[in-house]
Amino acid sequence: MSKLSDRIINLAESQTLAMAKKSRELQAQGKDIISLSIGEPDFDTPQFIKDAAKRAIDNNVTRYTPVAGIQELRKAISEKFKRDNDLNYTAEQIIVSTGAKQSIANVILSLINPGEEVIVPIPYWVSYIETIKLAEGIPVTIPTNVESNFKISPEQLKKAITSKTKMIVFSTPCNPSGSVYTKEELKALAEIIVQYPDLYVISDEIYEYINFVGKHESIAQFDFIYDRVITVNGVSKGFAMTGWRIGYIGAPLWISQACEKMQGQFTSGTSSISQMAALEAVKASPSVTYEMRDAFKKRRDLVLELLKEIPGIKSTVPDGAFYIFPDISYYFGKSYNNYHIKNSNDLSMFLLEEGNIALVSGDAFGDDNCIRFSYATSEERLIESVKRVKEALAKLK
Ligand code: PMP
Ligand code: GLU
Repeated sequence: MSKLSDRIINLAESQTLAMAKKSRELQAQGKDIISLSIGEPDFDTPQFIKDAAKRAIDNNVTRYTPVAGIQELRKAISEKFKRDNDLNYTAEQIIVSTGAKQSIANVILSLINPGEEVIVPIPYWVSYIETIKLAEGIPVTIPTNVESNFKISPEQLKKAITSKTKMIVFSTPCNPSGSVYTKEELKALAEIIVQYPDLYVISDEIYEYINFVGKHESIAQFDFIYDRVITVNGVSKGFAMTGWRIGYIGAPLWISQACEKMQGQFTSGTSSISQMAALEAVKASPSVTYEMRDAFKKRRDLVLELLKEIPGIKSTVPDGAFYIFPDISYYFGKSYNNYHIKNSNDLSMFLLEEGNIALVSGDAFGDDNCIRFSYATSEERLIESVKRVKEALAKLK
């Protein structure tokens, strides 16, 4: 009998976190590694948010909170949904969790039975697939590529639906492609979803504020599917608060109640201090995030421009988030010394070891032709990073 459960043995490690760990280890050994692996803003959390956390400590907001979150925060999130997304979620429909990662896990574990299918467009965020498998659901992927701007069509969605389909999970803006669905595109998908009354949607909108093309659109805005959408969001990305661990959902009440029950057995309410900090973030005008968004856009343009100088790289122009996800399959079949590049994992290992640059292979996100650059770092480091990639790739013949 194995000591560990089949559940944990079969669970893959998060590839984004694994690459970040590997680059930290190499850095600790004195290697000059630049890591563009983890998706994390390099900005500091805004001062007014940090002040709120300090006040929370001084005011002894240091005890267990209700499992679903401090009522004032749930109310503020309800108002945020109305203000930014024109969505009506009452405070009771909001569940605050330890990061959007837990929000997503709560929903999947609450809704998916063994054998039920969950549609996941490629490229997907790493944790969707593993959480679905943990729930013994079956991930069903839909391919996309640079030409389709990494977005799925309504026809593709319709084709993927079977009598076992329970849910679709996707992010817009998307990690890792940076693609942003327009209102029209979401409406066309919603018109398919409405035809299947037992089909639910997790709409992961954690990159809402990092959008370079205009207004963010939520799929829950279409009344005819509102009662089947779970809208996931949080403060990690837009407010540079990854370490505070605050995510949340707005969902039909019965789903929120299920998530509250799930969370009550796993973690209880998340950190009281982080919740008081998040309260200031969600109450603030989104304009406090614009400076960071504009800096991300400038960096995106810089990296795209620099990538043009490297032969064989095909990229979209990502409309949001802070990732570029180019197709690098041109390098497959090429070699240098003992390196024979067959896939995106080989290429990311080669770039790490020969180029001292950490990226995440597209394989981790379901698309083996690509590689992910997280450009949430300074312009100087980005210039140096692309130089390293260019020099390393030039060695492959
Ligand atoms: N969804 C997506 C698409 C992400 O990129 C992340 C980043 N880790 C998360 C959810 C989870 O965010 P967090 O747990 O930090 O709120
Ligand atoms: N979402 C980030 C990423 O994709 C953070 C790492 C993680 O939680 O997976 O890199």
